Amino acid sequence: MAPNKHLDRMEFMLTLRRRGITDPAVLRAMEEVPREMFVPDNLKPQAYEDHALPIDCGQTISQPYVVAYMTELLELQTRHRVLEIGTGSGYQAAVISRIAAMVVSIERYRTLAERARKIFDMIGYTNIEVITGDGFEGAPQRAPFDRIIVTAAAETIPDNLVDQLGEDGILVLPLGPRNGPQDIVRLRKTAEGIKREDLIAVRFVPLLPGQAKEL
Ligand code: SAH
Repeated sequence: MAPNKHLDRMEFMLTLRRRGITDPAVLRAMEEVPREMFVPDNLKPQAYEDHALPIDCGQTISQPYVVAYMTELLELQTRHRVLEIGTGSGYQAAVISRIAAMVVSIERYRTLAERARKIFDMIGYTNIEVITGDGFEGAPQRAPFDRIIVTAAAETIPDNLVDQLGEDGILVLPLGPRNGPQDIVRLRKTAEGIKREDLIAVRFVPLLPGQAKEL
């Protein structure tokens, strides 16, 4: 796999550009974060292909294009404090952490939260805090956040998360029923109220209530 790795990563960046990702900060972050660190050993040869892959606890690491697209929608600035719901592998949080000041990420499976923390330590990403808990509650003690991203599909927009969004804040989430169709929705909190945009069709694992009873 070693000799192809460079080519794989070039192809990976080309695919993102071809699919319409243009924000230089997002492209730089996608180039910097080693996705192979976040996928299971047996799938590492596929780490730079543009699709979702299975991880532990029956969950998935999102497709790179969707990670880049949702990151672009956040319109991140370097001073931003970001909340993510659904740490999973930690990959999306890692990408955001290369652009924003800090990321708080909540995961309902302890196993996934611990693994993600370990990977961040190994790579030396120190501005990500992983919390094991229920993302529906958000992190009220740390609110308000400049940006919130949900990486599991919600059937309705979680009120707590809208409440924890600061003024001029942006919330990006996949919205729709468990078995699709789901759309990426972007909400902006403005002085005149909440503005909503419904964007591309996607397929995410569901946002489930409560911390997982399993590990
Ligand atoms: N952002 C992840 C994608 C993970 S898939 C990545 O880059 O790899 C979605 C994750 O959301 C799963 O790990 C799932 O366990 C988690 N999840 C689902 N409902 C949740 C909830 N209520 N609170 C916290 N995490 C949740």
